[in-house]
Amino acid sequence: MNHVTDSPAPDAPRSLLITGGAGFIGANFVQRRLRQHPGDRVIVLDALTYAGNLASFEPVRNHPGFRFVHGDICDRILVDGLLREHEIDAVIHFAAESHVDRSIVKPDTFIQTNIVGTFTLLEAARVYVATRPGRAFHFHHVSTDEVYGSLGPRDPAFREVSPYAPNSPYAASKAASDHLVRAYHHTYGLPVTMSNCSNNYGPYQFPEKLIPLVIVNALEGKPLPIYGDGLNIRDWLYVEDHCRGIEFVFEKGRIGETYNLGGGCEQYNIDVVRTVCRILDELRPESPYVPHEQLIVFVEDRKGHDRRYAVDPSKAGRELGYAPQEDLASGLRKTVQWYLDNENWWRAVMDGRYRD
Ligand code: NAD
Repeated sequence: MNHVTDSPAPDAPRSLLITGGAGFIGANFVQRRLRQHPGDRVIVLDALTYAGNLASFEPVRNHPGFRFVHGDICDRILVDGLLREHEIDAVIHFAAESHVDRSIVKPDTFIQTNIVGTFTLLEAARVYVATRPGRAFHFHHVSTDEVYGSLGPRDPAFREVSPYAPNSPYAASKAASDHLVRAYHHTYGLPVTMSNCSNNYGPYQFPEKLIPLVIVNALEGKPLPIYGDGLNIRDWLYVEDHCRGIEFVFEKGRIGETYNLGGGCEQYNIDVVRTVCRILDELRPESPYVPHEQLIVFVEDRKGHDRRYAVDPSKAGRELGYAPQEDLASGLRKTVQWYLDNENWWRAVMDGRYRD
């Protein structure tokens, strides 16, 4: 079986297949990877669902190592061809249907992409590895803390050994994909690592998720909808910290292991929204909507809304030396500033031009 030490040294150029790279976290990862490892070849495979956005590749579009492939992770022939053609050394698997609300309305695509898609990639990887004896390979699976279910107010944060108890079709489909990844390691010796992370926020996030939704609605004087009483707690992780965490796991993690990546920033949803409003008041004092808090409205709660998530990242800290660099105050300020500076990006999303 391959171990992580069989992989090329971290600085040796690698050929990476990044699935879902046109989405929020994937695009941040691709940009970061090519900045930090300019010799790498980064092949992005993305179906460009509503969540995929080619404009997020603007900073790397002309990078010699960057290549975009429009396609579905469920397309086995395509995946087989990409692994062989680009002599892929590692797959980093971000592609997923990721929005809980959409999974409640229409779970089908979640089952297809998150479960069948992950299975397709694993099968393709298993066969590909068998054709390259002695060559290093690594499959990293990006997952979520939602697989662990919901915490009570005084429960300890989720650890890697916490039992799986997914509560939404999204979380259940991610849990199934995690189990498949684990099984492919255990059964076939596929060299895998996994990371389960908490709620991300930052640049390039589709404005259906809480923080970017609040920013763009507030800028336009639209209501800022808060589910239920606003007292659901999430552990917020700045996306750049998440991408660093994935690199730590990918470069230094033990094969076959899972690492939880959290921001150490537990916060009530309502407090997150109030903080975003205050930052906007400060950065856009001329706005007719100051104070932006006046736009907050409470709406009917999401079905089965998990009350609290919190992630214990101490294993990644202890074994890999990983720690997030942003706290919520600094990360939110950077995020709000990014949306102010990149109005073209989010306006094209809001009016649908990004699909052209
Ligand atoms: P996203 O919805 O922004 O992006 C998903 C990307 O996958 C899109 O570009 C989409 O076009 C692509 N995609 C969807 N179906 C595909 C298919 N069948 N074939 C190829 N591409 C397909 O998601 P994100 O927020 O960037 O999340 C990335 C990963 O991180 C997901 O696996 C998600 O479960 C996980 N995660 C996200 C968060 C978060 O807060 N955003 C938290 C924990 C874990």
